[in-house]
Amino acid sequence: MISIRALAGKLGNPLDWSSCGKALLLLGISLFYHVQYTWTAHYLLGRDDREQLVNVANVEHLINNFHLLVALTVVLFALIPIFRRTYGDRVWYEYLAAVYYGLSLCYFSYTIGTLTLPTGAALAGTPVVGFIFFNRGAILTALGLSLVALIGISYAAAVGYIPYAPIILHPLGANGQLSMEWMTLMYIYTAPHLVVLILLAYYVLRRWRQREDEVRLLSLTDVLTGLANRRSILSYLNREQDRSVRQGVPLTVLLMDLDNFKQINDSWGHPVGDEILVKVGHVLRDAVRQNDQVGRFGGEEFLIVLPGTDVPGAMLLAERCRAAIADISVSVGGGQDLRVTGSFGLFCNVSDRTLEVQDMLRFVDEALYLAKERGRNRIEISKGRPPSPGLLGTHNGALIGAPTMR
Ligand code: GH3
Ligand code: MG
Ligand code: MG
Repeated sequence: MISIRALAGKLGNPLDWSSCGKALLLLGISLFYHVQYTWTAHYLLGRDDREQLVNVANVEHLINNFHLLVALTVVLFALIPIFRRTYGDRVWYEYLAAVYYGLSLCYFSYTIGTLTLPTGAALAGTPVVGFIFFNRGAILTALGLSLVALIGISYAAAVGYIPYAPIILHPLGANGQLSMEWMTLMYIYTAPHLVVLILLAYYVLRRWRQREDEVRLLSLTDVLTGLANRRSILSYLNREQDRSVRQGVPLTVLLMDLDNFKQINDSWGHPVGDEILVKVGHVLRDAVRQNDQVGRFGGEEFLIVLPGTDVPGAMLLAERCRAAIADISVSVGGGQDLRVTGSFGLFCNVSDRTLEVQDMLRFVDEALYLAKERGRNRIEISKGRPPSPGLLGTHNGALIGAPTMR
Protein backbone atom coordinates (compact mmCIF):
# COMPACT_ATOMS: atom_id res chain seq x y z
CA MET A 1 0.00 0.00 0.00
CA ILE A 2 1.30 3.45 -0.87
CA SER A 3 2.04 5.65 2.15
CA ILE A 4 0.73 9.21 2.51
CA ARG A 5 4.29 10.52 2.45
CA ALA A 6 5.05 8.63 -0.78
CA LEU A 7 1.82 9.92 -2.30
CA ALA A 8 2.67 13.50 -1.29
CA GLY A 9 6.09 13.04 -2.88
CA LYS A 10 4.47 11.83 -6.10
CA LEU A 11 2.02 14.74 -6.20
CA GLY A 12 4.80 17.28 -5.64
CA ASN A 13 4.17 20.76 -4.36
CA PRO A 14 0.66 22.00 -5.28
CA LEU A 15 2.09 25.51 -5.35
CA ASP A 16 3.90 24.39 -8.51
CA TRP A 17 1.02 22.46 -10.05
CA SER A 18 -0.26 23.17 -13.53
CA SER A 19 -3.50 25.13 -13.99
CA CYS A 20 -5.22 21.83 -14.72
CA GLY A 21 -4.02 20.37 -11.39
CA LYS A 22 -5.06 23.47 -9.49
CA ALA A 23 -8.48 23.53 -11.15
CA LEU A 24 -8.96 19.89 -10.17
CA LEU A 25 -7.98 20.72 -6.59
CA LEU A 26 -10.55 23.53 -6.50
CA LEU A 27 -13.24 21.29 -7.98
CA GLY A 28 -12.31 18.58 -5.47
CA ILE A 29 -12.80 21.04 -2.63
CA SER A 30 -16.10 22.18 -4.20
CA LEU A 31 -17.22 18.56 -4.42
CA PHE A 32 -16.37 18.05 -0.76
CA TYR A 33 -18.62 20.99 0.23
CA HIS A 34 -21.40 19.97 -2.14
CA VAL A 35 -21.46 16.41 -0.84
CA GLN A 36 -21.40 17.70 2.72
CA TYR A 37 -24.40 20.05 2.16
CA THR A 38 -26.28 17.28 0.34
CA TRP A 39 -25.47 14.68 2.97
CA THR A 40 -26.53 17.04 5.76
CA ALA A 41 -29.87 17.67 3.98
CA HIS A 42 -30.47 13.92 3.71
CA TYR A 43 -29.48 13.41 7.31
CA LEU A 44 -31.84 16.14 8.52
CA LEU A 45 -34.73 14.75 6.47
CA GLY A 46 -34.12 11.32 8.00
CA ARG A 47 -34.43 12.56 11.58
CA ASP A 48 -37.66 12.17 13.55
CA ASP A 49 -37.46 15.75 14.78
CA ARG A 50 -36.91 17.15 11.25
CA GLU A 51 -39.89 19.49 11.62
CA GLN A 52 -38.09 21.29 14.45
CA LEU A 53 -34.85 21.49 12.48
CA VAL A 54 -35.64 22.48 8.91
CA ASN A 55 -38.34 23.51 6.53
CA VAL A 56 -38.99 19.95 5.32
CA ALA A 57 -40.97 20.88 2.20
CA ASN A 58 -38.24 23.25 0.99
CA VAL A 59 -35.45 20.77 1.72
CA GLU A 60 -37.29 18.07 -0.24
CA HIS A 61 -37.77 20.52 -3.08
CA LEU A 62 -34.19 21.88 -3.15
CA ILE A 63 -32.35 18.64 -2.52
CA ASN A 64 -32.71 17.80 -6.21
CA ASN A 65 -30.70 20.92 -7.02
CA PHE A 66 -28.05 19.75 -4.55
CA HIS A 67 -27.83 16.44 -6.40
CA LEU A 68 -27.59 18.31 -9.67
CA LEU A 69 -24.70 20.41 -8.37
CA VAL A 70 -22.85 17.31 -7.17
CA ALA A 71 -23.30 15.73 -10.62
CA LEU A 72 -22.21 18.94 -12.37
CA THR A 73 -19.06 19.09 -10.23
CA VAL A 74 -18.20 15.50 -11.12
CA VAL A 75 -18.74 16.25 -14.83
CA LEU A 76 -16.50 19.34 -14.65
CA PHE A 77 -13.91 17.31 -12.77
CA ALA A 78 -13.87 14.79 -15.61
CA LEU A 79 -13.89 17.48 -18.32
CA ILE A 80 -10.81 19.40 -17.18
CA PRO A 81 -8.32 16.61 -18.06
CA ILE A 82 -10.10 16.23 -21.42
CA PHE A 83 -9.75 19.99 -22.01
CA ARG A 84 -6.11 19.66 -21.13
CA ARG A 85 -5.58 16.97 -23.70
CA THR A 86 -7.32 19.11 -26.34
CA TYR A 87 -6.06 22.62 -25.55
CA GLY A 88 -2.99 22.01 -23.37
CA ASP A 89 -2.62 23.58 -19.95
CA ARG A 90 -4.61 26.82 -19.84
CA VAL A 91 -5.13 29.28 -17.04
CA TRP A 92 -8.85 29.52 -17.80
CA TYR A 93 -9.36 26.10 -16.15
CA GLU A 94 -8.56 27.85 -12.89
CA TYR A 95 -10.98 30.68 -13.73
CA LEU A 96 -13.70 28.18 -14.53
CA ALA A 97 -13.11 26.15 -11.37
CA ALA A 98 -12.82 29.22 -9.13
CA VAL A 99 -15.99 30.86 -10.47
CA TYR A 100 -17.87 27.58 -10.21
CA TYR A 101 -16.59 27.10 -6.67
CA GLY A 102 -17.68 30.62 -5.67
CA LEU A 103 -21.10 30.62 -7.30
CA SER A 104 -22.02 27.10 -6.21
CA LEU A 105 -21.20 28.02 -2.63
CA CYS A 106 -23.35 31.14 -3.05
CA TYR A 107 -26.23 28.86 -3.94
CA PHE A 108 -25.77 26.77 -0.79
CA SER A 109 -25.36 29.99 1.15
CA TYR A 110 -28.75 31.11 -0.23
CA THR A 111 -30.40 27.95 1.10
CA ILE A 112 -29.09 28.35 4.67
CA GLY A 113 -28.88 32.16 4.79
CA THR A 114 -26.37 34.50 3.20
CA LEU A 115 -25.67 36.35 6.45
CA THR A 116 -24.43 33.39 8.43
CA LEU A 117 -21.24 32.03 9.92
CA PRO A 118 -20.47 29.41 7.19
CA THR A 119 -20.81 32.03 4.46
CA GLY A 120 -18.58 34.43 6.40
CA ALA A 121 -15.95 31.74 7.00
CA ALA A 122 -15.86 30.78 3.30
CA LEU A 123 -15.90 34.40 2.15
CA ALA A 124 -13.09 35.53 4.44
CA GLY A 125 -10.98 32.37 4.31
CA THR A 126 -11.06 31.54 0.61
CA PRO A 127 -9.10 34.55 -0.67
CA VAL A 128 -6.48 34.23 2.09
CA VAL A 129 -5.59 30.69 1.00
CA GLY A 130 -6.71 31.14 -2.61
CA PHE A 131 -4.34 33.99 -3.47
CA ILE A 132 -1.36 31.86 -2.48
CA PHE A 133 -2.48 28.61 -4.08
CA PHE A 134 -4.32 29.64 -7.22
CA ASN A 135 -4.16 32.16 -10.03
CA ARG A 136 -4.86 35.57 -8.46
CA GLY A 137 -7.02 36.75 -11.35
CA ALA A 138 -9.17 33.63 -11.05
CA ILE A 139 -9.67 34.11 -7.31
CA LEU A 140 -10.40 37.83 -7.74
CA THR A 141 -12.95 37.12 -10.47
CA ALA A 142 -14.62 34.40 -8.41
CA LEU A 143 -14.64 36.61 -5.32
CA GLY A 144 -16.09 39.58 -7.19
CA LEU A 145 -18.85 37.53 -8.80
CA SER A 146 -19.63 35.75 -5.53
CA LEU A 147 -19.91 39.06 -3.67
CA VAL A 148 -22.28 40.45 -6.29
CA ALA A 149 -24.31 37.22 -6.11
CA LEU A 150 -24.42 37.27 -2.30
CA ILE A 151 -25.45 40.91 -2.13
CA GLY A 152 -28.04 40.28 -4.87
CA ILE A 153 -29.48 37.27 -2.99
CA SER A 154 -29.56 39.17 0.30
CA TYR A 155 -31.21 42.17 -1.34
CA ALA A 156 -33.79 39.97 -3.12
CA ALA A 157 -34.55 38.30 0.23
CA ALA A 158 -34.77 41.68 1.98
CA VAL A 159 -37.36 43.00 -0.50
CA GLY A 160 -39.31 39.73 -0.30
CA TYR A 161 -38.57 38.60 -3.83
CA ILE A 162 -37.14 35.29 -2.65
CA PRO A 163 -37.30 33.62 0.77
CA TYR A 164 -34.37 34.09 3.13
CA ALA A 165 -32.69 30.79 4.11
CA PRO A 166 -35.48 28.60 2.69
CA ILE A 167 -34.31 25.34 4.28
CA ILE A 168 -33.53 26.64 7.77
CA LEU A 169 -36.03 27.61 10.43
CA HIS A 170 -35.89 30.99 12.15
CA PRO A 171 -32.85 31.53 14.40
CA LEU A 172 -34.92 33.02 17.20
CA GLY A 173 -37.65 31.13 19.07
CA ALA A 174 -41.00 32.67 20.02
CA ASN A 175 -39.56 33.99 23.29
CA GLY A 176 -36.68 35.70 21.51
CA GLN A 177 -34.22 33.04 22.61
CA LEU A 178 -31.60 31.74 20.16
CA SER A 179 -32.77 28.46 18.69
CA MET A 180 -30.57 25.57 19.81
CA GLU A 181 -31.27 23.73 16.55
CA TRP A 182 -30.37 26.73 14.41
CA MET A 183 -27.14 27.29 16.35
CA THR A 184 -26.12 23.59 16.05
CA LEU A 185 -26.84 23.57 12.33
CA MET A 186 -24.73 26.68 11.79
CA TYR A 187 -21.77 25.05 13.48
CA ILE A 188 -22.31 21.86 11.46
CA TYR A 189 -22.24 23.87 8.25
CA THR A 190 -19.26 25.96 9.33
CA ALA A 191 -17.02 23.09 10.46
CA PRO A 192 -16.04 21.72 7.00
CA HIS A 193 -15.19 25.23 5.78
CA LEU A 194 -12.93 25.79 8.75
CA VAL A 195 -11.32 22.35 8.45
CA VAL A 196 -10.51 22.79 4.74
CA LEU A 197 -9.26 26.34 5.16
CA ILE A 198 -7.11 25.54 8.18
CA LEU A 199 -5.61 22.46 6.50
CA LEU A 200 -4.84 24.37 3.31
CA ALA A 201 -3.41 27.37 5.19
CA TYR A 202 -1.28 25.05 7.31
CA TYR A 203 -0.03 23.20 4.25
CA VAL A 204 0.69 26.35 2.28
CA LEU A 205 2.62 27.93 5.14
CA ARG A 206 4.65 24.77 5.71
CA ARG A 207 5.62 24.59 2.05
CA TRP A 208 6.31 28.31 2.10
CA ARG A 209 8.76 27.91 4.99
CA GLN A 210 10.41 24.93 3.29
CA ARG A 211 10.86 26.98 0.17
CA GLU A 212 12.27 29.88 2.13
CA ASP A 213 14.78 27.53 3.77
CA GLU A 214 15.76 26.12 0.37
CA VAL A 215 16.20 29.59 -1.10
CA ARG A 216 18.19 30.76 1.94
CA LEU A 217 20.43 27.71 1.66
CA LEU A 218 20.92 28.31 -2.07
CA SER A 219 21.83 31.95 -1.45
CA LEU A 220 24.54 30.86 1.00
CA THR A 221 25.95 27.87 -0.89
CA ASP A 222 28.46 27.68 -3.70
CA VAL A 223 26.80 25.74 -6.51
CA LEU A 224 29.90 23.88 -7.68
CA THR A 225 31.49 22.73 -4.43
CA GLY A 226 28.53 22.84 -2.04
CA LEU A 227 30.68 24.88 0.36
CA ALA A 228 29.71 28.20 1.91
CA ASN A 229 29.86 30.89 -0.77
CA ARG A 230 31.69 34.19 -0.42
CA ARG A 231 28.75 35.98 1.23
CA SER A 232 28.23 33.17 3.69
CA ILE A 233 31.87 32.70 4.69
CA LEU A 234 32.29 36.46 5.13
CA SER A 235 29.25 36.68 7.36
CA TYR A 236 30.65 33.77 9.41
CA LEU A 237 33.98 35.57 9.64
CA ASN A 238 32.25 38.76 10.82
CA ARG A 239 30.36 36.84 13.51
CA GLU A 240 33.51 35.12 14.70
CA GLN A 241 35.42 38.38 14.71
CA ASP A 242 32.73 39.88 16.99
CA ARG A 243 33.04 36.88 19.27
CA SER A 244 36.81 37.15 19.25
CA VAL A 245 36.53 40.76 20.49
CA ARG A 246 33.86 39.94 23.09
CA GLN A 247 35.39 36.78 24.51
CA GLY A 248 39.07 37.54 23.94
CA VAL A 249 39.67 34.32 21.99
CA PRO A 250 42.03 34.24 19.00
CA LEU A 251 40.70 33.99 15.46
CA THR A 252 42.69 32.74 12.49
CA VAL A 253 41.96 32.93 8.78
CA LEU A 254 43.56 30.87 6.05
CA LEU A 255 43.36 31.89 2.42
CA MET A 256 44.21 29.15 -0.07
CA ASP A 257 44.69 29.62 -3.79
CA LEU A 258 45.32 26.71 -6.15
CA ASP A 259 48.62 26.85 -7.95
CA ASN A 260 48.84 27.33 -11.71
CA PHE A 261 45.19 26.54 -12.04
CA LYS A 262 44.79 28.50 -15.25
CA GLN A 263 47.29 26.15 -16.84
CA ILE A 264 45.22 23.13 -15.76
CA ASN A 265 42.13 24.66 -17.32
CA ASP A 266 44.00 25.57 -20.48
CA SER A 267 45.59 22.13 -20.84
CA TRP A 268 42.76 19.86 -19.73
CA GLY A 269 39.65 21.91 -20.11
CA HIS A 270 37.21 23.59 -17.72
CA PRO A 271 35.32 20.41 -16.72
CA VAL A 272 38.56 18.89 -15.38
CA GLY A 273 39.22 22.18 -13.55
CA ASP A 274 35.73 21.98 -12.05
CA GLU A 275 36.29 18.40 -10.96
CA ILE A 276 39.44 19.45 -9.14
CA LEU A 277 37.61 22.32 -7.46
CA VAL A 278 34.94 19.91 -6.21
CA LYS A 279 37.60 17.53 -4.86
CA VAL A 280 39.47 20.38 -3.20
CA GLY A 281 36.19 21.43 -1.57
CA HIS A 282 35.71 17.90 -0.22
CA VAL A 283 39.21 17.47 1.17
CA LEU A 284 39.16 20.89 2.83
CA ARG A 285 35.80 20.17 4.44
CA ASP A 286 37.11 16.84 5.71
CA ALA A 287 40.35 18.31 6.96
CA VAL A 288 38.92 21.04 9.18
CA ARG A 289 37.32 20.64 12.62
CA GLN A 290 33.65 20.97 13.43
CA ASN A 291 33.72 24.65 14.38
CA ASP A 292 35.90 25.65 11.46
CA GLN A 293 34.24 26.89 8.32
CA VAL A 294 35.44 26.56 4.73
CA GLY A 295 34.08 28.76 1.97
CA ARG A 296 34.77 29.28 -1.70
CA PHE A 297 36.00 32.84 -1.69
CA GLY A 298 36.54 33.28 -5.43
CA GLY A 299 37.25 31.18 -8.53
CA GLU A 300 39.96 28.88 -7.12
CA GLU A 301 40.43 30.64 -3.80
CA PHE A 302 39.13 29.19 -0.55
CA LEU A 303 38.82 30.95 2.79
CA ILE A 304 39.00 28.92 5.99
CA VAL A 305 37.93 30.49 9.27
CA LEU A 306 39.33 28.92 12.43
CA PRO A 307 37.67 30.31 15.56
CA GLY A 308 39.51 30.02 18.87
CA THR A 309 42.70 28.94 17.08
CA ASP A 310 46.18 30.38 17.61
CA VAL A 311 49.09 30.28 15.14
CA PRO A 312 50.56 26.86 16.04
CA GLY A 313 47.11 25.22 15.93
CA ALA A 314 46.29 26.92 12.64
CA MET A 315 49.64 25.89 11.17
CA LEU A 316 48.91 22.25 11.93
CA LEU A 317 45.56 22.53 10.27
CA ALA A 318 46.88 24.46 7.28
CA GLU A 319 49.54 21.81 6.76
CA ARG A 320 46.89 19.10 6.94
CA CYS A 321 44.91 20.91 4.25
CA ARG A 322 47.98 21.54 2.11
CA ALA A 323 48.97 17.87 2.23
CA ALA A 324 45.40 16.73 1.52
CA ILE A 325 45.25 18.93 -1.59
CA ALA A 326 48.63 17.64 -2.77
CA ASP A 327 47.19 14.11 -2.41
CA ILE A 328 44.34 14.79 -4.83
CA SER A 329 44.68 13.11 -8.17
CA VAL A 330 42.33 13.32 -11.09
CA SER A 331 42.48 10.79 -13.88
CA VAL A 332 42.67 12.48 -17.27
CA GLY A 333 42.79 9.31 -19.37
CA GLY A 334 45.67 7.44 -20.90
CA GLY A 335 46.68 6.23 -17.45
CA GLN A 336 47.67 9.79 -16.58
CA ASP A 337 46.83 11.35 -13.21
CA LEU A 338 46.63 15.08 -12.73
CA ARG A 339 47.85 16.52 -9.45
CA VAL A 340 47.31 19.88 -7.90
CA THR A 341 48.78 22.00 -5.13
CA GLY A 342 47.67 25.04 -3.19
CA SER A 343 49.39 27.98 -1.54
CA PHE A 344 48.21 29.28 1.84
CA GLY A 345 48.24 32.61 3.58
CA LEU A 346 47.64 32.56 7.34
CA PHE A 347 46.74 35.37 9.68
CA CYS A 348 45.87 35.17 13.36
CA ASN A 349 44.52 38.21 15.25
CA VAL A 350 46.21 37.20 18.51
CA SER A 351 48.26 40.42 18.69
CA ASP A 352 45.22 42.68 18.09
CA ARG A 353 41.79 41.15 18.47
CA THR A 354 40.04 44.41 17.58
CA LEU A 355 41.29 44.25 13.98
CA GLU A 356 38.57 44.73 11.39
CA VAL A 357 37.69 41.84 9.06
CA GLN A 358 38.89 43.90 6.09
CA ASP A 359 42.34 44.25 7.68
CA MET A 360 42.49 40.53 8.47
CA LEU A 361 41.68 39.76 4.84
CA ARG A 362 44.32 42.19 3.63
CA PHE A 363 46.97 40.60 5.83
CA VAL A 364 46.08 37.05 4.87
CA ASP A 365 46.06 38.02 1.19
CA GLU A 366 49.55 39.49 1.56
CA ALA A 367 50.73 36.23 3.15
CA LEU A 368 49.24 34.26 0.27
CA TYR A 369 50.97 36.53 -2.20
CA LEU A 370 54.25 35.81 -0.47
CA ALA A 371 53.59 32.05 -0.57
CA LYS A 372 53.16 32.34 -4.33
CA GLU A 373 56.25 34.42 -4.65
CA ARG A 374 58.29 31.95 -2.63
CA GLY A 375 57.51 28.99 -4.82
CA ARG A 376 53.86 27.90 -4.16
CA ASN A 377 52.56 24.75 -2.38
CA ARG A 378 53.48 26.34 0.96
CA ILE A 379 52.13 28.28 3.89
CA GLU A 380 53.13 31.81 4.87
CA ILE A 381 52.12 33.63 8.02
CA SER A 382 51.34 37.31 8.20
CA LYS A 383 52.14 38.99 11.49
CA GLY A 384 49.92 41.92 10.62
CA ARG A 385 51.23 45.49 10.91
CA PRO A 386 53.41 47.15 9.65
CA PRO A 387 52.48 46.90 5.96
CA SER A 388 54.05 44.23 3.80
CA PRO A 389 56.51 42.91 2.92
CA GLY A 390 58.26 43.58 6.26
CA LEU A 391 55.37 42.18 8.28
CA LEU A 392 55.44 38.80 6.78
CA GLY A 393 57.02 35.92 8.59
CA THR A 394 57.78 32.69 6.85
CA HIS A 395 56.77 29.54 8.54
CA ASN A 396 59.79 27.35 9.01
CA GLY A 397 58.99 23.80 8.02
CA ALA A 398 60.61 22.45 11.18
CA LEU A 399 57.51 23.34 13.23
CA ILE A 400 55.43 20.72 11.55
CA GLY A 401 58.02 19.02 9.44
CA ALA A 402 56.30 19.56 6.11
CA PRO A 403 58.67 18.62 3.31
CA THR A 404 57.30 21.20 0.92
CA MET A 405 57.91 24.14 3.22
CA ARG A 406 61.02 26.07 2.77
P1 GH3 B 1 48.65 31.08 -9.37
O1 GH3 B 1 49.42 29.86 -8.99
O2 GH3 B 1 49.48 32.30 -9.41
O3 GH3 B 1 47.44 31.25 -8.55
O4 GH3 B 1 48.20 30.82 -10.85
P2 GH3 B 1 46.75 30.55 -11.36
O5 GH3 B 1 46.84 30.11 -12.79
O6 GH3 B 1 46.04 29.65 -10.44
O7 GH3 B 1 46.09 31.95 -11.13
P3 GH3 B 1 45.11 32.80 -11.99
O8 GH3 B 1 44.39 33.73 -11.10
O9 GH3 B 1 45.87 33.41 -13.13
O10 GH3 B 1 44.05 31.77 -12.56
C1 GH3 B 1 42.95 31.36 -11.86
C2 GH3 B 1 42.18 30.51 -12.81
O11 GH3 B 1 41.11 29.89 -12.14
C3 GH3 B 1 41.58 31.29 -13.95
C4 GH3 B 1 40.24 30.66 -14.17
O12 GH3 B 1 40.14 30.08 -15.44
C5 GH3 B 1 40.18 29.55 -13.14
N1 GH3 B 1 38.86 29.45 -12.56
C6 GH3 B 1 38.21 30.33 -11.78
N2 GH3 B 1 37.00 29.86 -11.44
C7 GH3 B 1 36.87 28.64 -12.02
C8 GH3 B 1 35.83 27.66 -12.06
O13 GH3 B 1 34.75 27.80 -11.47
N3 GH3 B 1 36.06 26.52 -12.76
C9 GH3 B 1 37.24 26.32 -13.42
N4 GH3 B 1 37.40 25.19 -14.08
N5 GH3 B 1 38.21 27.25 -13.42
C10 GH3 B 1 38.05 28.37 -12.74
MG1 MG C 1 45.69 30.22 -8.49
MG1 MG D 1 43.43 33.02 -7.88
